[in-house]
Amino acid sequence: MKKVFIFLLLLCNDVSYSQVQDLYREIYKTYPEYKIDEFKTRRFEHPKVKEQLKEVAKDPAFSLQEVGRSIEGRELYLLSTGTGKTNIFLWSQMHGDESTATMALFDIFNFLRSEGFEEEKQELLKNVRLHFLPMVNPDGAERFERRNTLNIDLNRDALRLQSPESQTLKRVRDSIKPEFGFNLHDQSKYYNVGLTR
Ligand SMILES: [Zn+2]
Repeated sequence: MKKVFIFLLLLCNDVSYSQVQDLYREIYKTYPEYKIDEFKTRRFEHPKVKEQLKEVAKDPAFSLQEVGRSIEGRELYLLSTGTGKTNIFLWSQMHGDESTATMALFDIFNFLRSEGFEEEKQELLKNVRLHFLPMVNPDGAERFERRNTLNIDLNRDALRLQSPESQTLKRVRDSIKPEFGFNLHDQSKYYNVGLTR
């Protein structure tokens, strides 16, 4: 998530890499202020995510839409914010048991909505539009398992598109046409945080 953050900050105009690193360090120091209490453990299910997304979407700077359903009928939501031209798409938890990125996304939402770093956030959101699809695999998350209900690894389903979750992800990506995409897995693994251009 650090890499994602530094990358987003770099997208602001007129900042150097060293300025971004300084800013990142400042933000990191204040992180406990922005970390939300709602996700205390790694295991949480879809209703919690849904409830928290609706909470975030009460802020008019955010828009929330249902973009699809899992096999078992759980809603997949897209949360968007920012007014810039550069579209960035971030999605988390294709693997149901890899929840830390979803937790981190909610901390980011809280950071964006809270006071502090106003200038930097305005600069960022003026330049980009951020789109988030947290918990792509809610059925897997329900059982805290990697695969979805069809026993498919969603991270290997990008071409065959056998699952409604993968189909939703592709449809959303095609409609957003993001310049950058972040496929967020558990923080320690990071084996597929690709900058797909
Ligand atoms: Zn994974």
